[in-house]
Amino acid sequence: MNNLWEATAAPPPESEPLAGSLSADVAVIGAGFTGCAAALRLAQASTDVCVIEAEDIGYGASGRNVGLVNAGLWVEPQMIEAELGQENGKRLNDMLIQAPDIVFDLIEKHSIPCEPIRTGTLYCAHARRGFRRLERRAAQLIAGGAPVKLLSPDEAREKTGSDALHGALLDPRAGTIQPLSYVRGLAKAASKAGAKLYTRSRVNALTHDGQQWRVATSQGSISAKSVIVATNAYTASLDSATMPSFVTIHYCQFATAPLGRDLAHTILPERQGAWDTAMVMSSFRMDNHDRLIVGGIGRLDGPSARAHAAWAGRKLKSLFPAVQAKHFEFGWSGRIAITADRLPKIARIGPGALMVHGYNGRGIGPGTIFGASLADYILSGDESVLPLPVLNRHSESFRLLKSCFYEVGATAVHLISDWGR
Ligand SMILES: Cc1cc2nc3c(=O)[nH]c(=O)nc-3n(C[C@H](O)[C@H](O)[C@H](O)COP(=O)(O)OP(=O)(O)OC[C@H]3O[C@@H](n4cnc5c(N)ncnc54)[C@H](O)[C@@H]3O)c2cc1C
Repeated sequence: MNNLWEATAAPPPESEPLAGSLSADVAVIGAGFTGCAAALRLAQASTDVCVIEAEDIGYGASGRNVGLVNAGLWVEPQMIEAELGQENGKRLNDMLIQAPDIVFDLIEKHSIPCEPIRTGTLYCAHARRGFRRLERRAAQLIAGGAPVKLLSPDEAREKTGSDALHGALLDPRAGTIQPLSYVRGLAKAASKAGAKLYTRSRVNALTHDGQQWRVATSQGSISAKSVIVATNAYTASLDSATMPSFVTIHYCQFATAPLGRDLAHTILPERQGAWDTAMVMSSFRMDNHDRLIVGGIGRLDGPSARAHAAWAGRKLKSLFPAVQAKHFEFGWSGRIAITADRLPKIARIGPGALMVHGYNGRGIGPGTIFGASLADYILSGDESVLPLPVLNRHSESFRLLKSCFYEVGATAVHLISDWGR
């Protein structure tokens, strides 16, 4: 089974593998939301910028995600201020609150054909205790001025078409997109503004000679004064001793064949995207072709793939019994970089070189904003334009152990939910 987004995305802009020795003002490594948003901002400021991508544009998490464009992070705003201190926490919260506006404005401005729908997202209570969590979150968001609305179980049923939920939190600022089309659209806009795009070009050495960076692939190299490393959870072939580290978890999704019109209109009739409060969370949304997409923690390129697929079938049946007979036509998974405090990190990896990572599963808005603000920082040298202070290093402990723990835990929960039926 393949990635639905690849099957339905708008075509990518033209690109070619890097060949020979080139120079640029800025080299951006990685063509996801972060790298493409950075390249767009730099190219618009007439900076000579190259994007170097190991595979294709959007190959990483950006082309695999659920497509929920949310305001803020998973971590509640007050927790962010408690963790970072009031000043830094407020700066991050204030910037990320604007995320849906920024993303949907870019889509409109550059006419990006990415199925944008801005009817909000639904954070659904999977159980009564989940609803209590939503009440706490709602109180905090409302106190901060957010126009969110807590929905009773009946109201949640009306919005989702499912009897299985215990209420929901509607955030009307948010929406959904076709994520691969969005990242390809950002890359196209960057290319139109003058950025050079190199794909199928894995950077295998990043060195500084005291004056310039040398970004080398097996076929070519770029000399640049500044570098943005936007490789996030897909970081490969870069020196692990100097790169900041993170823990990886996997998230998988399954999409049905298009549902008939009548059935499709009973599910998420206003087309919000939804996810739930379960400890091993799941998500569901519709696409533009009336396919229902169900997602949950787990990897499809590992030994538990069948357990995750079987779970998704049961999940779909428990949420929407009328859809049970439909087979999944698509199935795919992707990697998420997480950090112990669930907050992203900007780390310096040398003079004029920064890496950002760890959106902890909330990367459409943050990736777009962090990418553009890294560009602003390179253009201005002013650190206050960044959403977070720059760290000199960042490292996470027991990475492999924690990654295994998440995958084994998700598999166990997915298997147990089978026995429980
Ligand atoms: C399944 C899934 C569901 C998600 N759902 C949502 C959601 O609904 N909403 C939301 O906001 N966020 C979601 N996220 C998170 C979001 O997708 C990510 O945070 C975001 O895509 C990260 O973007 P990025 O540009 O930083 O990294 P990526 O998109 O991962 O891009 C990194 C790129 O770097 C390239 N690369 C790596 N190493 C090298 C190298 N050595 N040389 C050259 N290139 C290299 C990779 O090939 C890759 O294309 C989800 C993530 C996943 C995996």
